[in-house]
Amino acid sequence: MFKEAAIAIKKAKTILVTYHFNPDGDAVGSGVAMSRALKTLGKTVICYSKDPTPFNYRFLASDGLITSELPAAGVDATIVLDASNLGRAIPADYPKEKLGFIINIDHHLTSENFGAINIIDPKAAATGMLVVKALDELGVPLNKEIATAIYTAILTDTGSFQYSNTAPDTMEMASRLLAAGVSPRAVAEKVYESVPRARLIYLGRCLERMEIAPHGLWAAVQTELKELKELGVTKDMLDGFINYPRSIAGVEVAIMYREEAENRWKVSFRSRGNVNVAQMAAHFGGGGHFNAAGGTIEAPLPEVKTKVIAAIEEELKALGLM
Ligand code: 5GP
Ligand code: MN
Repeated sequence: MFKEAAIAIKKAKTILVTYHFNPDGDAVGSGVAMSRALKTLGKTVICYSKDPTPFNYRFLASDGLITSELPAAGVDATIVLDASNLGRAIPADYPKEKLGFIINIDHHLTSENFGAINIIDPKAAATGMLVVKALDELGVPLNKEIATAIYTAILTDTGSFQYSNTAPDTMEMASRLLAAGVSPRAVAEKVYESVPRARLIYLGRCLERMEIAPHGLWAAVQTELKELKELGVTKDMLDGFINYPRSIAGVEVAIMYREEAENRWKVSFRSRGNVNVAQMAAHFGGGGHFNAAGGTIEAPLPEVKTKVIAAIEEELKALGLM
């Protein structure tokens, strides 16, 4: 598959590189690394993201690499990164013919084979791992800039090498990236220690009113649009809120309800151990990984909560945890 992808990439002159909406570190890091690598091969590259780059990943593309405009003329090939379906990366109203030859590179459990070539490996800790394999096949060396983008992808998708997706090959890759010039301290400072004050203040408010199930097996936080406006919090600042309910002893599933519009809630799930939240999110048309998933539910919040809690408790009972 990597060979076929490399052949297709070599043939293309104009390439669109893109990744999922509401991008995370793996999406931005993979997209930036792939785009910079393709430029070294002389390609005309458009790195597209519908949504703005979160504040803590902007250092990867301070030269204006990423655009929110899709090319009117179309391209020879499109590389879609870290997106389990095409609709999570490209707005539905963009003509599919304009994307050219689609190469899908992803590590989601619930990934769809929407590309002409599909490189899908749920064992990869991050899509960034697969990007390096593609670059190796293309013969592009990892310079410091490319390595830093890949390191950011892996660092964030493994929760700073704390999640169960952290494997020997993850650490081997980290070692290779450090040898290529990555400064772990500099990346950590950009990604984790450049937080706007408003984020921390809002996090405090959300934690204060966190809901914890009577049996303690799930805990939930919620964010509302009017509060974001009031405190000057943007949605990219909400990343990581869900890690706090999951950090409580005894909690198997953490939930975050994020208001996206009136009666439209983005629901995120995090679990530990044997609880498969990708499957749970699929009930609501979403997806993701075994221990991290999400989806969107259109209903008033009380109804959303009833549905979500029912699905979680059904799964907890099936696993004999409740
Ligand atoms: P988050 O909760 O951080 O938004 O997403 C956690 C994981 O679930 C990510 O790997 C993400 O790709 C996946 N995910 C989140 N929302 C959706 C969704 O609406 N659809 C699908 N298919 N996956 C999602
Ligand atoms: Mn990822």
